[in-house]
Amino acid sequence: GERSPTDLNQLCEEYLRLAYQGLRAKDKTFNATLETDFVPGLPLVEAVGADVGRVLLNLFGNAFYAVQKRQQTGEAGYKPTVTVSTKQVGDHVEIRVADNGTGIPDEAKAKIFQPFFTTKPTGEGTGLGLSLSYDIITKAHGGTLAVESQPGQGTEFVISLPN
Ligand code: ADP
Ligand code: MG
Repeated sequence: GERSPTDLNQLCEEYLRLAYQGLRAKDKTFNATLETDFVPGLPLVEAVGADVGRVLLNLFGNAFYAVQKRQQTGEAGYKPTVTVSTKQVGDHVEIRVADNGTGIPDEAKAKIFQPFFTTKPTGEGTGLGLSLSYDIITKAHGGTLAVESQPGQGTEFVISLPN
């Protein structure tokens, strides 16, 4: 695909809705609070919208999966929440995707960007999402993709793209 000036706020909003509605269509009992903080007037980024969209879909899908899994433990007072925000930081635009789901165990952290690494049952995950996402963000767009996670508490992915 060709790069063109892309509004990441709009892309996030569109794909967040798609990911959430897609999951709800399959599992009517699933509910999560979506929090968004999209900074107005975010500079456009030269990007292949469809490719960054695939990255977002995977990050949102992973986040929903993680909160759904934690919800299924029946923990009292748990409120599944996925938070998506954008902002400009110097000459980059940042997208943060945070969830208060299962978190990533320390022994898995080093492997999540490897192709075919998945902790999901057959049919629910290919393990390709994050490795493809890493290539799309770093190789094709000159950006970075980073993760921080507290096992049992939640996870945050940060996409940073030059603008
Ligand atoms: P898949 O979703 O098909 O398993 P991914 O490459 O998208 O493949 O993710 C790889 C693995 O990283 C997941 O199986 C899961 O173990 C872990 N992971 C990714 N995102 C999250 C998250 N938000 N919370 C907890 N674990 C995660
Ligand atoms: Mg995935």
